[in-house]
Amino acid sequence: MRRCIRCDTEMLEGLDIKEPMHSSVLRVTRPETSGIMPKNYFGDMKAAVCPGCGYIETYLSRLDKIRQYKKDG
Ligand SMILES: [Zn+2]
Repeated sequence: MRRCIRCDTEMLEGLDIKEPMHSSVLRVTRPETSGIMPKNYFGDMKAAVCPGCGYIETYLSRLDKIRQYKKDG
């Protein structure tokens, strides 16, 4: 569980970040299941949103992949 670093409210996690076509904005959306993953895939950028103050935090979805990469050096 993530807590907001600004106001300590419990955050909504696992949301997607998308760039709609022909748009200059990024949107935070409900999560979608992804299909085939490329070899160098380290995970998707995910978002957590604080319902208290609107603070948005981003994080990597697949920590196992990036930890393995670090280990392999
Ligand atoms: Zn907050």
